[in-house]
Amino acid sequence: MCIFCKIVDGEIPSNKVLENDDFIAFHDINPSAPVHVLVIPKKHIDCFQEFSAEDMAKATPFIQEVTSKLGLDKTGYRLVTNNGSDGGQEVLHLHFHILGGGKLKWNHYHDDPKKAI
Ligand code: AMP
Repeated sequence: MCIFCKIVDGEIPSNKVLENDDFIAFHDINPSAPVHVLVIPKKHIDCFQEFSAEDMAKATPFIQEVTSKLGLDKTGYRLVTNNGSDGGQEVLHLHFHILGGGKLKWNHYHDDPKKAI
């Protein structure tokens, strides 16, 4: 079972922000911003590429509820999902990163941005 499925099952503790029948939002254990929350589907889906439009339609209002609960709807935030190896996905259970709580830098490239990618 993957680490995020263990969080869904309560085998691994998480600092939960919000939960419904389909999704859980919890604080990232290694935050990259003053506020860094992950939203995951409760059912195991490897990555965004495998996420259906129907499930995305359910994710949208949940993510918006989370950002409102955190007060980020007023100040702004970044919503990111890393997909696969080049995308930097480390945990193979789909998750959306919500980043906020301060001005965010825009830094997407590998160590040498001049190298062809
Ligand atoms: P990614 O690189 O997009 O796969 O992001 C995985 C994220 O999961 C990283 O930001 C980790 O800090 C976070 N993470 C890993 N294990 C846990 C955990 N047990 N609780 C909360 N966040 C976690």
